[in-house]
Amino acid sequence: MSAVLVIAGTDSSGGAGLTRDVHTLAQLRCEALCAVTAVTVQTDTRFADTHAVPAAVVSAQIAAALTNHAVGAVKIGMLTSAAVVRAVAAALEASSVPVVLDPVLASSSGGTLLGEEGRQALLECLLPRATLLTPNIPEAAALLSRPPAQEQKALLEQAQALLARGAAAVLLKGGHGSGAQATDYLVRAGHPPQLLRAPRAPRAVRGSGCALATAIAAGLAAGVDLGEACVRAKVYVTGRFQHSGEQRLSP
Ligand code: PLP
Repeated sequence: MSAVLVIAGTDSSGGAGLTRDVHTLAQLRCEALCAVTAVTVQTDTRFADTHAVPAAVVSAQIAAALTNHAVGAVKIGMLTSAAVVRAVAAALEASSVPVVLDPVLASSSGGTLLGEEGRQALLECLLPRATLLTPNIPEAAALLSRPPAQEQKALLEQAQALLARGAAAVLLKGGHGSGAQATDYLVRAGHPPQLLRAPRAPRAVRGSGCALATAIAAGLAAGVDLGEACVRAKVYVTGRFQHSGEQRLSP
């Protein structure tokens, strides 16, 4: 059985973060290993506090997890600081497993999860290690210090701009856009852009970004091609998560 190493923070509400990631992997019959980056105190509607795990402890967890040779992919979620971003990049340096990097910057419950210095470190140190970067529209805009894109042309431009910063592929998620369909844009060098469409959920669902990135990592760990892993993950999130009664709505 393949396994995914999840590098992420906990969310006491259970809506997002590590709980959502592990639940997703269990549903997809993939083993989960973990490196905890933070303990957050939040409900679905209120963000109260973050307790960051020291960078050295995050590194040590990653090193220990990677001694398990079943790890076929890494999913990175919440990182708390530039020091932790650098520690994660260093801990993954010697490994060649695919990395899905979800640039989690804020929680819909109201908290900032990674500040400006952390964002810069993520662009410099982790983006070049990412097999796939999975920003939503506000995250892509924040990483590029540009206004959020709305139209397809501008969304594709921002995805390409992030690709140019060093990620091997970028999946810009259109869930925060408008229109009947939620379209995600997959760009990678040497491939035409791939558009992934699904009916838009009536309201934002907590943890759907976590679940999507984790489901993609599960596909990659099982040896599925990146484009196909993205398609399967989108089908999974749209079907099993958004319409199955598991949904936790954002405020
Ligand atoms: N809290 C933690 C610990 C997370 O890792 C994430 C997303 O990765 C969030 C909150 C974001 O939650 P939401 O989907 O409600 O924005």
